[in-house]
Amino acid sequence: MFGPFLKSAVRIGLQGVQVSESVKIFEVGLRDGLQHEPRRLSLADKIKFAERLVAAGVRELELGAFVRRDQVPQMADSDRFFSAIQAGRLELRSARAWCLVPNRIGLERALRVGARNFALFTAATDTFAEKNLGMSIRKSLQEFRLVLVRAKEELGSNFKVRGYVSTAFGCPFEGKVAAKKALRVVRAMAELPVDQISIGDTIGVADPRSVVELLEPVLRDYGPDKIAVHFHDTRGTALANSLRAIDLGVRVIDSSVGGLGGCPFAPGASGNLATEDLIYMLNGMGLKTGIDLDALSDLSILLAKKLKRPMTSRYAQAYMHAKTG
Ligand code: MG
Repeated sequence: MFGPFLKSAVRIGLQGVQVSESVKIFEVGLRDGLQHEPRRLSLADKIKFAERLVAAGVRELELGAFVRRDQVPQMADSDRFFSAIQAGRLELRSARAWCLVPNRIGLERALRVGARNFALFTAATDTFAEKNLGMSIRKSLQEFRLVLVRAKEELGSNFKVRGYVSTAFGCPFEGKVAAKKALRVVRAMAELPVDQISIGDTIGVADPRSVVELLEPVLRDYGPDKIAVHFHDTRGTALANSLRAIDLGVRVIDSSVGGLGGCPFAPGASGNLATEDLIYMLNGMGLKTGIDLDALSDLSILLAKKLKRPMTSRYAQAYMHAKTG
């Protein structure tokens, strides 16, 4: 079933640790994706798309960000979105709805509308952290510690936290990021502590070799259960990098339906890896995701209509072509 390279790799991760033959998709399209799209979706559409993602089998979804509304207008309806979830207007089944909280102010907003799964976001480089959060890496981690204290005070242990370490391979301001430097931030994030750390190639410069350089020590320290990867396809390496991460034992991969956020005409296009492209590859390798690829691709076609541009997902394009002839 697998070639000689993957035969052992898929079953046995780093240092002979037995790893699962299923991969969890962490769907970021409706937050990380939409945040980088020039056209906005209405809240009603966001709810509809989230519902269809859940119906397709997605179980981890990022749906909003409690950031400044004037700075990220695409996420300005996050309070209403999570209120709608709380009111039962969105059937989540067993899926988890995640939101980004940059600080304690964001957390208070998230708590008021019943959010329980929080993503914290820092970077491996200070310049990027300063430009995006208005804080150094160290300051952001201090703030997150206070965020977690407050969340615990309000929710006890009934919440989940994921920490993003962005610019882990390269930074638009500081250039190439050494694995050692990113590793220090991953370790600091792990100490907060958080349930999961997502290692992000924010500008899409990683390659399979740099993936190994960073993930080997990370997985040695924390094991595959705690680690996720977030690759961008800006230079066409996201699938190769995902494959290498899987080979090392990683079993949670962030991706974006249709490749949302990868609009080539948008300023600062993020180039998120398209969920359909990733699932197509995983299906072929016999790695299960529990997600219906056709249902997801139909959703991509709808998104393309709403956003008035083709989705960047190659699989969705081929699917549409085959469907319409
Ligand atoms: Mg992204």
